[in-house]
Amino acid sequence: MTVLRKNLIDGEWLGEAGSRNINPSNTNDIVGEYASAGPEQAKQAIAAAKAAFPAWSRSGPLARHAVLKKTSDEIMARKDEIGRSLAREEGKTLAEGVGETIRAAQIFDFFAGETLRLSGEMVPSVRPGVGVEMTREGVGVVGIITPWNFPIAIPAWKVAPALAYGNTIVFKPAELVPESAWTIVDILHRAGLPKGVLNLVMGKGSVVGQAMLDNPDVNAISFTGSVSTGKRVAAASVEHMRKFQLEMGGKNPLVVLDDADLAVAVDCAVNGAYFSTGQRCTASSRLIVADGIHDRFVDAIKERLDKLVIGDALDAKTQIGPVVDQTQLKQDEDYIAIGRQEGAELAFGGDRLERGAPGFYLQPALFVGSTNAMRISREEIFGPVANVIRVKDYDEALAVANDTPFGLTSGICTTSLKHATHFKRNSEAGMVMVNLPTAGVDFHVPFGGRKGSSYGPREQGRYAMEFYTTVKTAYTFAG
Ligand code: NAD
Repeated sequence: MTVLRKNLIDGEWLGEAGSRNINPSNTNDIVGEYASAGPEQAKQAIAAAKAAFPAWSRSGPLARHAVLKKTSDEIMARKDEIGRSLAREEGKTLAEGVGETIRAAQIFDFFAGETLRLSGEMVPSVRPGVGVEMTREGVGVVGIITPWNFPIAIPAWKVAPALAYGNTIVFKPAELVPESAWTIVDILHRAGLPKGVLNLVMGKGSVVGQAMLDNPDVNAISFTGSVSTGKRVAAASVEHMRKFQLEMGGKNPLVVLDDADLAVAVDCAVNGAYFSTGQRCTASSRLIVADGIHDRFVDAIKERLDKLVIGDALDAKTQIGPVVDQTQLKQDEDYIAIGRQEGAELAFGGDRLERGAPGFYLQPALFVGSTNAMRISREEIFGPVANVIRVKDYDEALAVANDTPFGLTSGICTTSLKHATHFKRNSEAGMVMVNLPTAGVDFHVPFGGRKGSSYGPREQGRYAMEFYTTVKTAYTFAG
């Protein structure tokens, strides 16, 4: 029997059964049942967060440190159980699910430390006898809206800094992955957060998410998801003159030069393009490969793809789990058809796979002979699909890498210090990797992109403070 997971509003678990959570590795497996909030509950949650803000924002670092540290400790202690549940609801492999859970614990630990390090500045005024202090304060009620592809890490990297800097929260997770979201809210609630400080409103984006966008009492919104929803968040936020931060899509290039170590380049490409079923905003979906290494690189990738174990996310041997749901699977298959129609050659994969149980299994797909003008090179597919673009040299590779509406991550595989250094300086992306996959980042440094990928201050690390605080300048004349 499944337990009904409810929404947390003003310290109370509320709501009726609304939606079912289905395991994409086995659609006969129902992960759980979840309450679905409506506009009225979103309104109550926002009012509760508003009422809780004055006390929480003045609570001082020790109270906030205690809750965040306790949360980190519990997540770490339960990493195998939570990681398994994450893999079950989202479809990433067990190892990736546990890895993501550990990352969430590390993020809460990092921001627990930040509560004790918050500082200001004091300078003499230009007027004799006057002192000037610059301090940071919480912004107020923060709306947090998250996507399905990192069910625990993305909520952690928004919720932890929001709480650390004294904000109160209304959190709306993605419909496909409510269990991971509910779990961290439950842990934070039991760790001792006062009522109203953190409110969970699971439900539909078009209903509960939209109700958050339309409410003037939400002082800031941190959003990760698709470009189209990001634009809605932006328009509504400008209307209400509120702070907002958007992390959206990517079409990340991995450049492979003739002098690359072939084994390193193949590892980077296979990991970056296909791990987590290609469902990462940082995935390397464009493989930009120099003429001299092109054929060896393509052969080596095909050989690796042929050996990958694709199957049930909960099977420890699985290296690539299923696609998250039917809608995403259709999108992946549509783009595979589009690539063929555009004249790219499907060099490997792209077929649906049958496994023991009904699930959304797709063989990783590799296109060759593609150009950067094709739709498969310009639009985010968000699945295990990558295409190789052949170039003559480094200069052409850099130009192709930068010729995209997105700018989240980029990578280069080379043994040339000159080209690596030039690429780091001239790549139009927020994060640049040398001889590393475009996906896979540290939790204590800034995360974010440029152009159509991101808007507003960076997330994570100490840079998170830019979004979750506002600066106050105070002048004192002591007489
Ligand atoms: P999505 O835009 O469909 O949904 C994201 C969130 O917005 C969900 O919680 C959804 O319910 C909510 N939402 C939908 N309509 C809304 C509305 N009208 N008002 C308010 N909220 C609404 O995105 P998704 O399919 O869940 O996630 C995949 C996308 O996320 C991809 O484009 C991917 O690149 C992006 N992503 C980006 C990053 C990054 O850091 N740049 C990280 C992970 C995922």
